[in-house]
Amino acid sequence: MHYKQSEDFIDDKKIWIQLKKHQNPSDTEVRRIIQKSLRIQTLQPKEVAVLLNVQDEKLWQEMKSAAREIKRKVYDNRIVTFAPLYCSNYCLNNCFYCGFRRENKKEARRQLTIDEVKKETEILAGKIGHKRLIVVYGESPQSNVDYIAETIKAIYQVKVKKEKGFNRIRRVNVNAAPMSVEDLKKIKEAGIGTYQVFQETYHHETYAKVHPQGTRKHNYQWRLYCMHRAFEAGIDDVAIGALFGLYDWRFEVMGLQYHTLELEKKFNGIGPHTISFPRLQPAQNTPFIQETKYKVSDEDFLKLITVIRLAVPYTGMIVTARESKEIRDKALKLGCTQTDASTKIGIGAYSENDNKQKPEIQQFILGDTRSLDELVRDLAKKGIITSFCTAGYRCGRTGGKIMDLLRRGKEAVFCKINAILTYREWLDDFASEETKKIAEGVIKQEIEEIKRKTPKVYPPKLVALLDDYYKKIRKGERDLYV
Ligand code: SAM
Ligand code: SF4
Repeated sequence: MHYKQSEDFIDDKKIWIQLKKHQNPSDTEVRRIIQKSLRIQTLQPKEVAVLLNVQDEKLWQEMKSAAREIKRKVYDNRIVTFAPLYCSNYCLNNCFYCGFRRENKKEARRQLTIDEVKKETEILAGKIGHKRLIVVYGESPQSNVDYIAETIKAIYQVKVKKEKGFNRIRRVNVNAAPMSVEDLKKIKEAGIGTYQVFQETYHHETYAKVHPQGTRKHNYQWRLYCMHRAFEAGIDDVAIGALFGLYDWRFEVMGLQYHTLELEKKFNGIGPHTISFPRLQPAQNTPFIQETKYKVSDEDFLKLITVIRLAVPYTGMIVTARESKEIRDKALKLGCTQTDASTKIGIGAYSENDNKQKPEIQQFILGDTRSLDELVRDLAKKGIITSFCTAGYRCGRTGGKIMDLLRRGKEAVFCKINAILTYREWLDDFASEETKKIAEGVIKQEIEEIKRKTPKVYPPKLVALLDDYYKKIRKGERDLYV
């Protein structure tokens, strides 16, 4: 592999110089950059620095409107949903901001057995209707790679019968500590979808401070290069992110951009499949969160989402249930492409009957606990279709192939059809009557749009397949995709 882990592609000084150099950018320069984003091209760091420095409210409005346009162009009016499944909160690390850190003696530690993982999956797939999960683990010898691989395999094994057909989890993404190439090969073998690791902060000094010496996570470089190792292990859907609130938000956006460009450069144009930008949330017995001076306001949060949308126009963007309903709605409008629903983050929480948050077993407190049914309905009211599609990686549309399709606006063709098919499945199997009523209108609108744009955009062969699969799904066949 053509990278050296001893190198470092994040130069803190250079980032600050670029941010300072581009203060007071001209309107012409900002508009030139917006046009480049609209052509679905990745921006250079200095261009991102320009956008981050915009002061003029009118220009921000232009940037936000371009962000919405890019989202529409690349991802149409779809939102993909998933749920997190926390498997273990044992952790050797001591990250200042996290409820799972080893010094938090008030955290009740627990690791799901494989049977418990299956039980949680049965609820997620059988009762709620999820088809895509992200599994999450603390870093500890208990939750080592063999455990992670076992949990992934166990999730794929669960198949739940429904009145008409059946449901199962079709894509398992992983958020776990950085691993060696050898370990990553094991989770690739187990069927991982996307491998997600957040750098937390790209600022070296802050990184060293909040991940204390003597812990594994203290090693900045090991984390920074984990996606390089993932590629080496054959995983080409990788997801990056920063935890906003640890350091200056503009700096972190620059860090994410350098990371994106590094991946594109080293791996034939393949950048991050998704970018995440979680904001620090309160966690029990974790005073650091109240003390940090870098908390990101709602207004700045929406700005950073706008800039990321413009900076990496092809990437998926994830906003999670950490955020309140109001902010999530705004973030989704601004260009986010994925969000979670019916979220519970306590270990074993899906198998419990109550919906109360339990700080003693959670990593942090959630801002929006809307059910999947409510989220689908809320989106449908806005004419947005919820997609449960997982076809991409099962058809080999991953890594370079999907990037290329996204950049050329072609992925939307497959995704729109798969969104309709999976939406139909979900409505027939899981939706409340109230949600169904509103969602039927969305499905009708989507099908009509496809018919209108055939053959110019949608090849007749594909549309014939849609008609055929749609009828079969209504009769109870499941998991049909193009
Ligand atoms: N232990 C693994 C690691 O650190 O890479 C898995 C990740 S952790 C369970 C998932 C992510 O949650 C972290 O990478 C961090 O960005 C985020 N997180 C931790 N504490 C948080 C908090 N108080 N509020 C919001 N997000 C938090
Ligand atoms: Fe452990 Fe991850 Fe929490 Fe750090 S963020 S304490 S590594 S679970």
